Amino acid sequence: MTSLDIVIPVYNEEDVLPLLFKELDLTFNAEALEKHGLETPHYIFVDDGSKDQSKRIIREAIDGGLNASLLSLTRNFGHQSAVTAGLSLSRAQITALIDSDLQDPPQVILEMVDKWRQGYEVIYGVRRQRKEGKIKVFCYWFFYRILSFLSEVDIAKDSGDFCLIDQKVVSTMNKLPEKLRFPRGLRAWVGYKQWGA
Ligand code: UDP
Ligand code: MG
Repeated sequence: MTSLDIVIPVYNEEDVLPLLFKELDLTFNAEALEKHGLETPHYIFVDDGSKDQSKRIIREAIDGGLNASLLSLTRNFGHQSAVTAGLSLSRAQITALIDSDLQDPPQVILEMVDKWRQGYEVIYGVRRQRKEGKIKVFCYWFFYRILSFLSEVDIAKDSGDFCLIDQKVVSTMNKLPEKLRFPRGLRAWVGYKQWGA
């Protein structure tokens, strides 16, 4: 059985958190865990200085039996710092990163686990469609093309943080000394066998 940590950054997500818990519960049901050879996942929620009830909601879920830890940041440090903080606590054989706003479907993590079993060490989720307006969608599209043009590292286009990475990759990323980090870039930079790039 493979241990799986799921790092989830949270900033003012009180409305969506109950839905997220439900969705995670449905996705990682006993049958799916058995089929994909997984232990019950351990969630690492990182509250990035939320001003709403997010923290309380997560704490209550943990008190109610959710297999999770809550790392509570002292202020809003930003998405990428929250991800970095969550990764620093991750010890499982594989770690998934997923946004808390349900824009990344948790079921895809199971497919990523299958890819990991085929030998890949970094597996990306790529957004093929976006719900945002046309201008924002264009800006996202443009950002990844500019990034790709400027960067010597081959960073997967249209992939956010949603991914599954092997403990080796987590451990390498955690050792990097950068203070101002762009984990999506570092994840591509560290090497290893990457899928989806
Ligand atoms: N988030 C965070 N800190 C922030 C902003 C966002 O931890 O300062 C979290 C947010 O709750 C979500 C994820 O990071 O789970 C992605 O944020 P957002 O949905 O704003 O990013 P986008 O979907 O636009 O890439
Ligand atoms: Mg989002």
